This record gives sequence, C-alpha cells and structure tokens, in this order.
Amino acid sequence: MQQITVQLGTRSYPISIGSGLLPMLSSQLKKHLRRQVFIITNTRVAELYLEKVKQALQPDHQINWFIMQDGEAYKNFESYQQALDHLITASYGRDCTVVALGGGVVGDLAGFVAASYQRGVDFVQLPTTLLSQVDSSVGGKTAINHPQGKNLVGAFHQPQAVVIDIDCLQTLPERELKAGLAEIIKYGIMADAEFFAWLETNIKKLLELDAESITYAIATSCQIKANVVAGDEREKGQRALLNLGHTFGHAIETASGYGNWLHGEAVAAGMAIAAQVAQCEELISNQDYQRILRLLVAAGLPVNAPSTISWPEWQQLMGRDKKVQAGQIRYVLPTAIGAAKITTDISDSTLQQCVAEVRA
Ligand code: NAD
Ligand code: MG
Repeated sequence: MQQITVQLGTRSYPISIGSGLLPMLSSQLKKHLRRQVFIITNTRVAELYLEKVKQALQPDHQINWFIMQDGEAYKNFESYQQALDHLITASYGRDCTVVALGGGVVGDLAGFVAASYQRGVDFVQLPTTLLSQVDSSVGGKTAINHPQGKNLVGAFHQPQAVVIDIDCLQTLPERELKAGLAEIIKYGIMADAEFFAWLETNIKKLLELDAESITYAIATSCQIKANVVAGDEREKGQRALLNLGHTFGHAIETASGYGNWLHGEAVAAGMAIAAQVAQCEELISNQDYQRILRLLVAAGLPVNAPSTISWPEWQQLMGRDKKVQAGQIRYVLPTAIGAAKITTDISDSTLQQCVAEVRA
C-alpha cells in the first residue's frame, strides 16, 4: 500500500492506494469516520461494492445510504435533494460522515452534499473509477450540474481521507479505464517528464491492470495533483495548469452531448489540440509534440475532435468555459514534456487551424 498526504495545514488528509483496501476499511479509516456514516453511491456501483463496504463498517458505525441513478445526467439538483432528504429523514446530525462510493459523478455530488448539509459535514472518498482515483477524489472540488452547464453549482470541500482500492478497476469497462489514463498522461505532460517517460514504457502494463504499475501510476498522479492543490487550493494561479486539454475537451463534450464522449476521451483530444496549438506557436518542439500524440494513441485514446463542430460553434463553446477571466480565454499549453503554461495570447486563425486537424 502507498500513502500520500495532501498538505493543507489543518485540513491535510491522507490518500491510501493499494489492493484489498475496501474490506479493511474500518481499520483504514479508524481516525477519519464518525459513528454516523451516510454512503452515497449509484445503482451500478451499489451492485458491485455496497455490501462489501457496509460489511467492512459494521458494527462500528450506524450506516445509511442513498443510491442515485447512474450517469452524468443524474449529477443534478434532483439527486442532490434526494440525498439530503435521506439524511434529514435519518436524523443525521452535523457529526456524521458522508462517504462517496463510486466514480467522479458520485464523488462530486456526495462532496457537495457533504459541503452543504448543515453547513458542512465530514467527507470520505472511496473512488472506484480510474478517473476518480487520480483526479476528482483529490483536491476538494465538488459540484452538481445546472441545466445550462456542467459543474455550475458547487463548493470547495476537502475530504478527511481518500481510500483507493485498485481492485475496483477489475470491473471497470475498458473504455472508462482508458479515459482515466488520459488524466494520468496529463500529469506527465504538465508536470513530470520522468513520469511521462515511465508511462511511455509501461502503458501496456497499465492497460492490463498490472497491480504494481497501476498503484505506482495512481500514486504518482495523486502526488502531482496534491502538490499543485497544496500550492493553490482555490485555483488562483497554478492549479489552472491541471486544466490542460480541458478547455478544448469541454467544448467537445458539450458539442457532442454529454455521454457520447467520455470526459477523459475529450480531454485526450483536447490535449492533442493544445499540443498542436503549442507547436503552431513554436512553444514546444516537434519531438515532444509527437511524443504526446504517440502516448495518447498507445493508450487507445482519441487525438482528433469530431469534424462536425464548426468554428463558430467552437468559439461559442469555449467562450462559455469557466476558465474564462475578464472576457479572455486562458489556454493551458504544453511547452515541453513535463511543463505547461497559461496564455491568453493565441490568435483566432491558429486556433481555427488547430481545432480542425491534429496530425498524429
Ligand atoms: P462516472 O462516475 O460516471 O463513472 C463512469 C461509469 O463507471 C459509471 O457508469 C459508473 O457507474 C461506472 N463505475 C464506477 N465504478 C465502477 C467500477 N469499479 N466497476 C464498474 N463500473 C464502475 O465517471 P467518472 O469518469 O468517474 O467521473 C466523471 C465525473 O467526474 C464528471 O462529472 C466530472 O465533472 C467529474 N470530475 C470532477 C473533478 C473534481 O475535481 N471534482 C475532476 C475530474 C472530473
Ligand atoms: Mg478532468
């Protein structure tokens, strides 16, 4: 088992990563769980892991749970209210812990429930998708969607602990696994050349879920995210680098309708576009640009946006992105393997050319 600490002063918390952690949850979380525990999960994950988690926590805890429908569409006000209704009906007080058991959708919604129920209660993440294990469960961003846009309502609320049981990945569909790899590759591109090179050598082992490799990749990713978050918890500066590929990716997700492209797939194509823009602007060497595309392709990820998105549509979609400040779009571009920068200074003609075609 590997352990990482997210350093946030009095709100610091541990992330444990390894095999067989869910059955040992009670001892794993001894210091971090209140007596009253409220598990939020979804239909799919409940079928697979809810009993295991309940058993691991009984008889030390009073347990209640809410099972939401599966899918991004249910990260909405209705599920949020239903979860709160359950908490209130069960007479849970402020001294309870909300536990998220599931992927990023469950984690984001449960986190927002924890952030807002009685002005904030304890929160523990048990992420079960690769994407949630390396990204959404770390860093304290919680949210639900509004009909007009993704993640428009939320809060920063750090968990007390994150427990990552890599055994959960055994049941994860392959497409979801690859989508998680996109975020792992992102960390290598933006922050860690050595890790990127390790990924180039070990990508096949990760696709085969080799336990040692997957533990290492998750731990390294969490460590990179933890370092960035520790330096900039509320995204005043450097945390925005984690959005590499996301401005273009969100545009792809929205244009294609949620669900047709997985978030990680859109981020992969978005990173390829960002790398292409960086190359057009002579910010990155051709060699590094090619390495980025090659690794994404080796991970089985898309590197081109759908050709059906017109340029005016791109402009409109990117203009609505949360990362827009003072009317300017802030692009995160790779400048080398292991480095990225934020810039507003990209011409429309370069963008138009780059979103249209990425050459692998
Ligand atoms: P998800 O939560 O929808 O999970 C993907 C699918 O896998 C779902 O159908 C789910 O039921 C299923 N599943 C989950 N665990 C499984 C398992 N072990 N075995 C089999 N099936 C399993 O999607 P996701 O990719 O985990 O998360 C995406 C969400 O995360 C988005 O809503 C995104 O906005 C959010 N997100 C948040 C942050 C953050 O910092 N808070 C960061 C990145 C993404
Ligand atoms: Mg992401």
